[in-house]
Amino acid sequence: MAQARYRVELPDLDFYRRGVACQQACPVHTDARAYVNAIAKGEYELAYLIARETNPFASTCGWVCGAPCEAACRRGTIDAPIAIRALKRYVNDRYGVYLGEEAEPREPPAWRGYGGQPRGLDLGNSALPAARAALRGVARRHGPAAARVAVVGAGPAGLTCAHDLALIGYDVTIFEGSPFAGGMLRLGVPEYRLPRQLIDLEIEAILALGPKLELGKSLGTDFTLGDLRQAFDAVFLAIGTYRSRQLNIEGEEQDGVLRAVDFLLNVNLGGYNLDLGRSILVIGGGNVAMDVARTAARLGHPTESGGDVELALDVARAARRLGRTQEVHCLVVEAREEMLADSLEVAEAEKEGVRIQNHVAPMRILGEGGRATSVQTLDVGRAFDDQGRFNPELIQGTERNWSCDSVIVAIGQMGELSWLRPEDGLHTTPRGTLQVNPTTLETGVPGIFTGGDIAFGPRLIVHAVADGQRAAAGIHRFLSGATATSRRRGFFTPLDRRRYSAWGPLGGFLRASRQQPPSLPVARRVGVASVEEGYNEAIARKQAARCLICSLNPIFDSSLCILCNGCVDVCPEDCLKLVPASDLEGDFKIEALIPTPEMEYAMAMLLDPARCIRCGLCAARCPTEAVVMNAFRFTEEVVDKESG
Ligand SMILES: Cc1cc2nc3c(=O)[nH]c(=O)nc-3n(C[C@H](O)[C@H](O)[C@H](O)COP(=O)(O)OP(=O)(O)OC[C@H]3O[C@@H](n4cnc5c(N)ncnc54)[C@H](O)[C@@H]3O)c2cc1C
Repeated sequence: MAQARYRVELPDLDFYRRGVACQQACPVHTDARAYVNAIAKGEYELAYLIARETNPFASTCGWVCGAPCEAACRRGTIDAPIAIRALKRYVNDRYGVYLGEEAEPREPPAWRGYGGQPRGLDLGNSALPAARAALRGVARRHGPAAARVAVVGAGPAGLTCAHDLALIGYDVTIFEGSPFAGGMLRLGVPEYRLPRQLIDLEIEAILALGPKLELGKSLGTDFTLGDLRQAFDAVFLAIGTYRSRQLNIEGEEQDGVLRAVDFLLNVNLGGYNLDLGRSILVIGGGNVAMDVARTAARLGHPTESGGDVELALDVARAARRLGRTQEVHCLVVEAREEMLADSLEVAEAEKEGVRIQNHVAPMRILGEGGRATSVQTLDVGRAFDDQGRFNPELIQGTERNWSCDSVIVAIGQMGELSWLRPEDGLHTTPRGTLQVNPTTLETGVPGIFTGGDIAFGPRLIVHAVADGQRAAAGIHRFLSGATATSRRRGFFTPLDRRRYSAWGPLGGFLRASRQQPPSLPVARRVGVASVEEGYNEAIARKQAARCLICSLNPIFDSSLCILCNGCVDVCPEDCLKLVPASDLEGDFKIEALIPTPEMEYAMAMLLDPARCIRCGLCAARCPTEAVVMNAFRFTEEVVDKESG
């Protein structure tokens, strides 16, 4: 019988780094695993420092981040991901700039590095702090950075870029067209999801580092790109996307048809004084549509749909007392499970009385005397074709009229680029964004960089923060001539069994299920009252303790193995296998695995890292310590090419 051959990948630095999926998935590589573990141990300040180190908008992200880390979290393959975002909020609400609604505002803290070693077991994987600290070192070696940099747009991308450049020592001026800094955090995200005081404090902490902020100064109205190029040594364009996409259907130009961005700007800047009538139709199924629908619902009153009958009755009675009724329907082409909006946000919107109507496509907006009175739709068979392209299959003869007082179109945004002149030398894309080198964030015009939504289209806050960091690094390279390069290293810290069982997940971590943070009862969700309430300490620690601690790995030493197979037998996930090393094949030399003649019959341990839950039972069972649990730590340094 032919001998079995196993094609394997030998673990290297990237293998172990990829293993910590939450950190890999985060655009700013925040070591979520490290701060979640610190919370589990009650080391809250340390957790805050880890979360804040890589992200000047850590408090904001704690409230509303789209949390790509949670989508990547391996615990999600078992039951549900760790509630990383809510845990980040927990430590930021204790140590960050914003201490909750009842607390007295504090002085914004000076930027604090992630100094020294974490206390207790060092299971850190924090690559970026070292990288950014070293970047500042590179800057210092290149002398004081006297150059002047203009940042256009005070959203998260522009403010983060200003933050990082200020840390290096550049003279930064931010030009913001609106009367407020914060971009879509303030102008788009509704106050009931993100308190305004939190945004103010997070921006104050950035400005305390030195960048100057000029409000009410618009590119195109108050100055041109040419003016900036004359007065500054480099420019970062981070102006976001402020033009709503159009439906391009008949009747869209009538009164009573609003664009989502205009509507949100009006509510967020002008207060709740819009009169949209009693019945509102929101067209679209993404997160912006949900925000629009929920904000519109607040213009009247919330109503409970289904679910808790008592609550629904209470709300209905409260509504009668208010003497107003309002209906908000969301018309969505996609099926419910295909909607772009976060399923939790959809559920919250429904609780607040927003009715989601799936598989309907708006065909025309009907009106009387130039004012919209209804939207005519056709039913949709399916929204996507066999190739997965958005290509709605309309079912003829299914016309329906949805009567309304107002329509809000929330199907996406694009850049407002009317300021652009041919002599600027910048190019645009068919999506209505600025063309950019996606790696360096250079536009092609020397010294002009761009990032955030205006370069990549609408995404998440944390992507904008990552772009601000990359732009700052790029601008620094451009201005200083520093040719920084990175040096990576990985370390293993062996954990003896006693320490592992004290630290590791043997204490029943698999039994705890994910718990959503509590939210305000629907009857109290009026105006700007925050909907989500934070975890208390007991719940936060319990939730953090669910982490699989993906930086821990079973490591096998063949020379100690007595072939008892105990590790394989005990593995609850069936993800281990012991095979003769000579049966392996791959891009490596077997001799490298079997270095001495005594190890001629060496065994190899095959591990499926995607299935391993780091329970440590293999190590606990091994009588000879041939299998041990090791903590992997990764660092990355940025060094000068010359000195590197
Ligand atoms: C309704 C809504 C809800 C959202 N909810 C979430 C969420 O829950 N979680 C999440 O992660 N992301 C969310 N996002 C996305 C997120 O807010 C954006 O991706 C992010 O703010 C983009 O950052 P930015 O810095 O690129 O642009 P922006 O935040 O848009 O900032 C751009 C800034 O540039 C200014 N500006 C524009 N033109 C000019 C000009 N010509 N001259 C000078 N200044 C100018 C603007 O006034 C603005 O202050 C949401 C977006 C919207 C619209």
